[in-house]
Amino acid sequence: MLIVMHHHASQEQIDQVIAAVEAMGLKAEPIPGSLRTAIGVLGNQGYVDDSTIRTLPGVRETIHVSKPYKMVSRDFHPESTVVDVAGVKFGDGQRPVLIAGPCSIENEQQMLDAAAQVKAAGAQMLRGGAFKPRTGPHSFQGLGIEGLKYLQQAGQASGLPVVTEVMRIEQLEVICRHADMLQIGARNMQNFDLLKEVGKTGHPVLLKRGMSATLEEFLAAAEYIVAEGNEQVVLCERGIRTFEKATRNTLDLSVVPLIRELSHLPIIVDPSHATGKRALVPVMSKAALVAGAHGLMVEVHPDPANALCDGAQSLSGEGFAELMGELNGLIDYLGS
Ligand code: PEP
Ligand code: MN
Repeated sequence: MLIVMHHHASQEQIDQVIAAVEAMGLKAEPIPGSLRTAIGVLGNQGYVDDSTIRTLPGVRETIHVSKPYKMVSRDFHPESTVVDVAGVKFGDGQRPVLIAGPCSIENEQQMLDAAAQVKAAGAQMLRGGAFKPRTGPHSFQGLGIEGLKYLQQAGQASGLPVVTEVMRIEQLEVICRHADMLQIGARNMQNFDLLKEVGKTGHPVLLKRGMSATLEEFLAAAEYIVAEGNEQVVLCERGIRTFEKATRNTLDLSVVPLIRELSHLPIIVDPSHATGKRALVPVMSKAALVAGAHGLMVEVHPDPANALCDGAQSLSGEGFAELMGELNGLIDYLGS
């Protein structure tokens, strides 16, 4: 960390900052400049809590050099991690993985139909929400445990591993029994207790970016899971909240190459929640692959017009088959 002093800071204030740094068991190295003095902080193993130092008289700003994440960073772990979900592999050197399926599990037949359609089109994993984090309490909240059974059944019938969202720690045990991968939704990205417990399960995790999370906060959230000994984490960019209302969220595609550079974890893109519009899903799926995504998660429903959740952004089975045809050509062109 670097502490930058105000240009009018007195020697006494500089000495006070040095004393505060040393009281934290760290070394302070003053760097006098023509305009102002900066103080380098040395000896820290990771992120330094600067809450006391920032408020000391004469301090202008603190600049963090070390990040609030370490185990997910490439500096710490240069080789890319490959995440294996029941034989489906996400990461460098692997063909991008297509996860597809409805937003919510609605009934047994809907899941069997969706699974058969996405499998026939070439998807490698099936999605479906049983516990739904809906914005309002009057919207369909999901079928809960009954839904998990339909998801597992559809996964077995189609031979596709399944992913579903966990919202609370108490749901973990039953979800681990029914699903191959645990999804942490955008709204829970900073539910730190949940992240820790998910880390302890050792189950593969799909961690979605919070709708107002910075890239640093996103990676720090992944750090919570990895710090518990679970490296099987796939990150998912799903759009962030901006001033733009023409789309549901703003797809921040530049995080894909950035995360590939900063972290060893795989990163996929969810163009459905990012745009909220079915017509935009195919082109943004292609853009995500060009940006280097290790996969996509796309909402597909056998009857989007009558879906209980997110129908406007869901592709039909036919729409998804058409998209897969185009993506396969692009994936071959890009190479893995
Ligand atoms: C979902 O994928 O089902 C979902 C609710 O997405 P998000 O958490 O990104 O809003
Ligand atoms: Mn949805």
